[in-house]
Amino acid sequence: MTSAPIRTCVGCGGKAAQAGLVRLVAAGSRVVIDRARSGGRGAWLHPTVPCLERAVKRRAFGRALRSEGVQADAIALRGELTGNPRKD
Ligand SMILES: [Zn+2]
Repeated sequence: MTSAPIRTCVGCGGKAAQAGLVRLVAAGSRVVIDRARSGGRGAWLHPTVPCLERAVKRRAFGRALRSEGVQADAIALRGELTGNPRKD
């Protein structure tokens, strides 16, 4: 196994190995981190605050997930991505 799958970050548009990104999926009308690798359409993102904020601003999740109505809760996702609870 020498070739890791490469994915595109929906925040910055950069490419990275799948292992370095987190996968997000639509759960109803929300965007959640897909820790179970549940299959279906997913969006890949660097687990960093700048990439998350760019993706939210650009509404990149709706496009990537082909689900225009989904809402990304930036604060909740940020907490999950960084491992810190909500703090502002
Ligand atoms: Zn990125």
